[in-house]
Amino acid sequence: MDIAVIGSNMVDLISYVDRMPEQGETLAAPDFQMGCGGKGANQAVAASRLGSDVLMVTRVGNDIFAKNTIDNFAKNGIDTRFVLETESTSGVAPIFVDKDSNNSIIIVLGANEKLSPADIDAAADEIAACKLIVLQLEVPLETVYAAIEFGNAHDIPVLLNPAPAHPDLDIERVKSCTYFMPNETELALLTSKPVDTIEQIREAAQGLVDQGVKDVIVTMGSRGALWVNSTFTKEIPAVRVEAKDTTGAGDAFIGCFSHYLVKSGDVEKAMAMASKYAADSVTKLGTQSSYATAAEFVGAR
Ligand code: ATP
Repeated sequence: MDIAVIGSNMVDLISYVDRMPEQGETLAAPDFQMGCGGKGANQAVAASRLGSDVLMVTRVGNDIFAKNTIDNFAKNGIDTRFVLETESTSGVAPIFVDKDSNNSIIIVLGANEKLSPADIDAAADEIAACKLIVLQLEVPLETVYAAIEFGNAHDIPVLLNPAPAHPDLDIERVKSCTYFMPNETELALLTSKPVDTIEQIREAAQGLVDQGVKDVIVTMGSRGALWVNSTFTKEIPAVRVEAKDTTGAGDAFIGCFSHYLVKSGDVEKAMAMASKYAADSVTKLGTQSSYATAAEFVGAR
């Protein structure tokens, strides 16, 4: 295996409404779509579509959404042996999108909250055979900490995407990850520092490096990405495109970065490819539906 994603999956339940409902109102939606999401699943799908062998360690509920999620992983070539069923609802995200593309999102973590350090132990042999561990924060922090310890103990690089921002994240317990990859908002919340300019972002990331984090890579939307460590700073500008839907751009970036990092071991190259891949994804609607396959991505350039 190349990459172990230890993280979340969600089922997006998207109602397209003319306007947002008022409190107590029942409103008819002209359109509805169900889609697969969750940060862990999105990153796994992007990496797998590009050709990495991806092991997914995650929990689904014992409801009708579970089959949908497992089928989607399988369809995308992801190893589902550790997609574990739980006495719970699956993770779901009811979403309203209005005519002006404003959205309201509710996240029900459901089974994702049950992903435990014991699940990492259960998949230990398979995870130990991977070249990179990829983590986010839609599962319990104890599981994230255990996965970092597992990676350190087995000499496997660990990429932590601290998203969504978690007020209780203990930097001391995650600083031994290899790549710490927040977006600007998460960086601001984690460091309580301003992130309006690139120089401010660099300073905030430098603060994390001073606390002992090795490599901080900040994604900055249409401004690109910034890599900061104790010896240098490297800025990778975004590829200029006409953006249609930026949802899931961060996950596209991380999935693609992981794929090229494992393939080449070259961080700068992985960032450049991820920047192209995420830019391509924002030109299309949807999250996973906007992630290109290897043939589509390389062929397009
Ligand atoms: P999300 O939460 O929607 O997944 P995010 O906030 O985590 O996204 P961003 O920092 O917005 O992630 O974007 C990730 C990467 O995607 C950026 O570093 C950049 O390379 C690319 N990207 C995002 N928006 C654009 C854009 N408008 N044009 C070109 N590239 C973009």
